Amino acid sequence: MPPSHVRSREAFQRACRLIPGGVNSPARAFGAVGGQPPFIERGEGAYLHDIDGNQYVDYVGSWGPLILGHAHPRVVRAVEDAMRRGASFGAPTEAESHLAELIVDAVPSIEMVRLVSSGTEASMSAIRLARGFTRRDGIVKFAGCYHGHVDSLLVQAGSSATTLGVPTSPGVPVGCTADTMVLRYNDVQGVADAFAAHGDRLAAVILEPVVGNMGLVRPTDEFLETLRRHTEKYGTLLIYDEVMTGFRLAYGGAQQLFHQMPDLTVLGKIVGGGLPVGAYGGRADVMKHVMPSGPVFQAGTLSGNPLAMAAGIATLEELRDRPPYARLDELGERLSTGLGEAARSAGLPHCVARVGSMWTLFFANGPVVDYDSAKQADTARFARFFWGMMDRGFYLPCSQFEAAFLSTRHTEKHIDQTVEAARAVLAEIARA
Ligand SMILES: *Cc1c(COP(=O)(O)O)cnc(C)c1O
Repeated sequence: MPPSHVRSREAFQRACRLIPGGVNSPARAFGAVGGQPPFIERGEGAYLHDIDGNQYVDYVGSWGPLILGHAHPRVVRAVEDAMRRGASFGAPTEAESHLAELIVDAVPSIEMVRLVSSGTEASMSAIRLARGFTRRDGIVKFAGCYHGHVDSLLVQAGSSATTLGVPTSPGVPVGCTADTMVLRYNDVQGVADAFAAHGDRLAAVILEPVVGNMGLVRPTDEFLETLRRHTEKYGTLLIYDEVMTGFRLAYGGAQQLFHQMPDLTVLGKIVGGGLPVGAYGGRADVMKHVMPSGPVFQAGTLSGNPLAMAAGIATLEELRDRPPYARLDELGERLSTGLGEAARSAGLPHCVARVGSMWTLFFANGPVVDYDSAKQADTARFARFFWGMMDRGFYLPCSQFEAAFLSTRHTEKHIDQTVEAARAVLAEIARA
């Protein structure tokens, strides 16, 4: 029997009267797949429970942070203990150095780190720092990469790869994006051309070293190496946005997996263990330009918040003490193989993209290597897949262009149930 959503419908109507679109972050409204979102009552391990009493196997994990699943006992205990000592002091605590030390020890290129409260804040601050350090204004980003809702980075692909950016959102002045150049992901020649023409005015290149925000897209080795070579040659800072990949693809993030050393790294999501934390860090000589040790201003009333530090520390220590990465990769392999077979036997064009515990089933013939090839996907078909899986108790990201996640609480049994459900849904879609 498909789940009932009577209470969620009422809750959504109420929310829509009070909050724009009924949500505090747009993807949650299910616009990309139509229909209305279930309202969540609680999470437990690999499961979400909604207010109508339905249970789902969760492949969203709060969009990435919950690599340990919901309400992990070690994280719950740490936050309870911290809360009893007081929620916030606006003064230094040892917990901040504790989390900073875990980050510095884990991420190969980070020598110093500044803690903030979201991925958006971290990437905004990293861009400001790169501009302050290099005394240049130009930024390169890649179409389909998301770095939070930072004005200067809210730019999609122009029609030609190297056109100057046009803002994606009303309210972002053209002036804010005039120094942002948008290139095509994995386009080595585009990078070479951009540096040849503008290299000496580029402060930074920022990218997701594995993209999650256009669906999962993997970089080529040549792409990563080209970026490192050109940025080094021109004195441009290379920024890896590892908000999604940090502590997920490996304990040291994508840079550890690919043996790359960016100048700056942006973190978020897992580093806060489900509480609001972001971080930016990297070369000490660059980080020392941040106020008060340097002139580049950045501040936050709740930065380094004790509850958030406690959740982050507990999460990273669990990942450090019991590295789940080989196991997550095995589960990911089982899932992607199963989904691929299910789509093939249904006769649907598809491509399963995966790195470790991040994955996307694209309804397009692959390979998906950039935003243009991602946009070839059949989003109507994805929506049918999404709702078919919801009806069977599997909660996926509500857009073709978002990566799904495994957690340490998923088991072979969950994977096999998921593949079985997908087989039924995909066969239904093929018949329709
Ligand atoms: C989620 C995300 C962000 C933004 O982080 P918020 O905490 O939502 O502000 C930035 N970059 C990447 C790669 C992300 O996945």
